[in-house]
Amino acid sequence: MTTNDVDTYIRWETDGDVAILTMDAPGRSANTMTDEFTASLADVVDRLESEREKLSGVIITSAKKTFFAGGDIFEMMRLAPEDAARLEASGIAIKSLLRRLEKLGIPVVAAINGAALGGGLELALACHRRIAANASGTVIGLPEVTLGLLPGGGGIVRSVRLLGVVAALESVLLAGQRHGPEAALELGLIDEVVAPDQLIGAAKAWIASGPEPAQPWDRKGFRVPGGTINDPAVAAMAGPLTARLRARTGGSPAPAAAAILATAVETSHLDIESAGVVESRYFAQLATGQVAKNMMNFFADTQKVRSGASRPDGFDRFVVKRLGVVGAGMMGAGLAYEGARRGIDVVLSDVSTEAAAKGKGYAVKLVEKSIAKGALTQDAADELLARIVPTDTLSDFAGCDAVVEAVFEDPALKQDILREAVKHAGTDALLASNTSSLPIGSLATALDRPEGLCGMHFFSPVDRMPLVEIIRGVDTADETIARAVDLGIQLGKNPVVVNDGRGFYTSRVITSYIDETLAMVGEGCRAASVERAALKAGYPVSPLKLIDETTLTLPRKVRREKKAAFEAAGTPWVVHPAEPVMDRMIDEFERPGRSSGAGFYDYVDGRRTGLWPGLAEHFGADADVPFEDMVERLLFSEALETARCFDEGILSSTAEPNVASVLGIGFPAWTGGAVQYIKGYPGSVGGFVERARELAARYGDRFTPPESIVVVADQNKSLDWDNDAGRWA
Ligand code: NAD
Repeated sequence: MTTNDVDTYIRWETDGDVAILTMDAPGRSANTMTDEFTASLADVVDRLESEREKLSGVIITSAKKTFFAGGDIFEMMRLAPEDAARLEASGIAIKSLLRRLEKLGIPVVAAINGAALGGGLELALACHRRIAANASGTVIGLPEVTLGLLPGGGGIVRSVRLLGVVAALESVLLAGQRHGPEAALELGLIDEVVAPDQLIGAAKAWIASGPEPAQPWDRKGFRVPGGTINDPAVAAMAGPLTARLRARTGGSPAPAAAAILATAVETSHLDIESAGVVESRYFAQLATGQVAKNMMNFFADTQKVRSGASRPDGFDRFVVKRLGVVGAGMMGAGLAYEGARRGIDVVLSDVSTEAAAKGKGYAVKLVEKSIAKGALTQDAADELLARIVPTDTLSDFAGCDAVVEAVFEDPALKQDILREAVKHAGTDALLASNTSSLPIGSLATALDRPEGLCGMHFFSPVDRMPLVEIIRGVDTADETIARAVDLGIQLGKNPVVVNDGRGFYTSRVITSYIDETLAMVGEGCRAASVERAALKAGYPVSPLKLIDETTLTLPRKVRREKKAAFEAAGTPWVVHPAEPVMDRMIDEFERPGRSSGAGFYDYVDGRRTGLWPGLAEHFGADADVPFEDMVERLLFSEALETARCFDEGILSSTAEPNVASVLGIGFPAWTGGAVQYIKGYPGSVGGFVERARELAARYGDRFTPPESIVVVADQNKSLDWDNDAGRWA
């Protein structure tokens, strides 16, 4: 084998008459679409064209754990609208290199030895054959839509020609699915799956078989599978696809999905070069727009949180082998399953062994489902379930590295449990409460070592919700937080760290959303319009449905406790317009929620049948509130409460609330999170402040923007938190 000795991005080696091109970005852990890559690709394509007579084929592979990772998000986040023309031109330039590669006249194989997502798959799609290694890290797809982008390196144009307009949109482009090698093969995105050590051999064998070195779309008589926009069948699908997209997004800002749909349909009948130009134009518009910026920022924030950005330094990684969970109800049962499925031994306790076993039953059900789907073998399932030991006594907590309590939301009960648990688990164990609103500082007063306790607020259902909110009480030690972050990561969650306070961050902010919804109902806004406004804003679930599921009694209890605490502290209590609505719904109409068979919706045999007509009768339905105000009242109520959390010291970085608001409480993903929403509002912080004042003038003082962000707006600055100074930078 001969090798070029140049330290370039793409290493050129020859094995006989096969050129093996290995992507190996110097000094980086992954191959990304940088200027160096493009320059190196240009050199390689020039050389391939000049040496093609001597070669029988080309193999493209990677020296990294992943194949190719696509665009560099951190660079792209800096793009501004004025960069659009440059971006479009550079996209077209890269595509012309890929076009030359697929028109080389000798077979080119992508030997995919790891993740080929986004740009990675686009590069592979420009090869004549795609062979993937059957390894756990091999994931294949075009997930750009999840970053507010579209695949701008030929991904739409080629996937449409490979799979057809509708299949490409539904299986690859609109939801950005990540496929394992077998699924990608079945879909037709790749051609072959082999063992990792046979990858290059399989590529060489295919070259040796003498295949025709041409893409399907460059062969005579090619037709896009299923037809183009000029075919009545595809043209007829365009409308329903748009309608389906609207139904999925509720009309909320989804520029990426809309642009993907438009590109796929509009370019299906064009020649590949012209189609590529249109694709690049849409890409440049999207990539330089605000929604992409928000979503890329969210991606970066999530990475920060996952890498434990708020984990205090200086403590060894904490690995939990044995976890004690008290309370085998909805949350405890979910936690036990999450632990066991990650190899942790779990002792699950409740008031009786039967109650604890019932909690284990949740894991049994989930495991049965996984077996039915073929995702788990019976042996692995048996092992998982054997790790959960139900008990009625905390003395079984001996040897636990960590204890999480998830009993009823009752401070005295929680204190008793924590005191008792620590006796058995030992003072060195991490101690956490899964309370959703009780201040950790006051729970800790019952303990000899308050520094060992923190909050670990999981979300329901625990096995599906990817967030844990870790709460630092006044006395909580740094080491306790570091350990809780490690346990959160061990359980597969995004751990955000916040400071103590009633409702911490998430419960407090979602309360403001629920309250604003109730206020609108109380003002006489049509309930159906309020529900629609939430979907238009981009919330995944409309608020009255959500309130019915969780019941009104819960927020009323939390509110009453808060009010009592205010009165005890002599702090004046401002009545929120939500309060009378809550009281009337519970006391006067006896409609606290779904579990009671009546809420904002009617239920027949447990099935939701429609909004309760009594709402219009008792609260009115003709309030003069513009629909856009309804949409923004929901978003602003949460964004403003987030800003207040900074003022009150609950939050100390912007990544935390961005990640927690989207992953924990359904703040719309297109915003990039509750802080990014303020930052990215039209006119930035200044525009947000102005609109908040308008809403305050119309709907009440709760919309008055906090002075802290007014100052940022007045100084025309961006909203960046300086944690050392404890204020906006
Ligand atoms: P749940 O009512 O479903 O379960 C509570 C369990 O605790 C019951 O099985 C009960 O028998 C058990 N229990 C009560 N006293 C006990 C004792 N002395 N010893 C052992 N077990 C005892 O409640 P849940 O929804 O799982 O909530 C538990 C905690 O998690 C609460 O603090 C709640 O605020 C919090 N939380 C709930 C959610 C949610 O969506 N349900 C979300 C986040 C946090």
